[in-house]
Amino acid sequence: MQRKDRDAVLDLVNVMKRMYLRGLISSFTGNASIRMDDGILITPSGIPKWSLRPADIVKIDFSGNVLWGIHAPSSERRMHLAIYSVRNDVHAIVHTHSPYTLSLFERLIEYLEEVAEFQKIVGKIEVVEYAPPGSLKLARLAEEKARNKMVGALILKRHGVICIAEDIYSAYAKAEIMEENAKVLYIHETIGKRI
Ligand code: 13P
Ligand code: ZN
Repeated sequence: MQRKDRDAVLDLVNVMKRMYLRGLISSFTGNASIRMDDGILITPSGIPKWSLRPADIVKIDFSGNVLWGIHAPSSERRMHLAIYSVRNDVHAIVHTHSPYTLSLFERLIEYLEEVAEFQKIVGKIEVVEYAPPGSLKLARLAEEKARNKMVGALILKRHGVICIAEDIYSAYAKAEIMEENAKVLYIHETIGKRI
């Protein structure tokens, strides 16, 4: 494995652990990828996310063929590849199932539009209509919404969140900050008002 790949693999494993510990993903939900010159490094499908080790990461080419790896690549690989194909500025993607973000996305988007600082970090958030997880249809719908260079995150209705960025830690930070703000909204709109 090339040195560049090795570093990126370590970053992927690190970010998946963080996302798991932050409650953004669970054992069998969520995935992440990093774009390299000759393909993408992506998390495997069906392996508990908290248990991922560097040897579990898979490399695929831009057509989705496996270049190396001992597991099947993520079932959302077509969505990752579709987004990279329309955004040459994007080098990393994280997909979470962030519960607060997913439940409160309408309020979160409204709130984000009012807070310039938040908007600067996350970018524009677009909503993608429901299509089955892992489907080609979902990949196409996500690709359409991600095409605009202002877009930094997607809400996949009744499914999850996609955050895209120049590097994996920035993509992760977007998912984290969205969930943090969605929690603030939730607390404010429930017990917050009664204090
Ligand atoms: P994978 O384990 O295949 O990456 O799928 C998880 C997921 O969240 C599907 O949308
Ligand atoms: Zn998912």
